[in-house]
Amino acid sequence: MKVKIRRNAKLTTHPFTDYFKNFEKVEAVRRIFGEKTEEVLRNLRVEFFGRKSYMGVSDDDGHLLISAYYLNNGDLIDIYLDIIHELVHVKQFLEGKKLFDHNYSYVERPTEVEAYCAAVEEARRLGLSDERILEYLKTEWMSDADLKRLAETLNIKSHKSE
Ligand SMILES: [Zn+2]
Repeated sequence: MKVKIRRNAKLTTHPFTDYFKNFEKVEAVRRIFGEKTEEVLRNLRVEFFGRKSYMGVSDDDGHLLISAYYLNNGDLIDIYLDIIHELVHVKQFLEGKKLFDHNYSYVERPTEVEAYCAAVEEARRLGLSDERILEYLKTEWMSDADLKRLAETLNIKSHKSE
């Protein structure tokens, strides 16, 4: 048996601005990139993948990776806040920062805390309650203890009043 494996797979990416419009006008985004906002967003690429997940930033070249399932089915506010979060990672990548520093746990990693801060600040501006923000932060792969720690770091009440 002689199999052949072609090893010239190319990533299929799309311009960020084909899918995400007017983000250059969002104050929270301008706070991240300043006067480079238009330029960064114009050059940003998005790769969609077919696994049930959320989104992230490639530590190879700083492009966005988004679960097609999430984009098409997720809560729009959650998606919007995730974009703010990921754009902070894009900025960090452009600054040469290590995005996945495993010397820290996920909820304590400075790059994550910075990204969560920006998303939560925007959530508050939109008028979301602490309860709704907590719901946003909660993911199936985060333990209750980690969620509590993250909420504390971000000054979000992690318990309901009795
Ligand atoms: Zn992150």
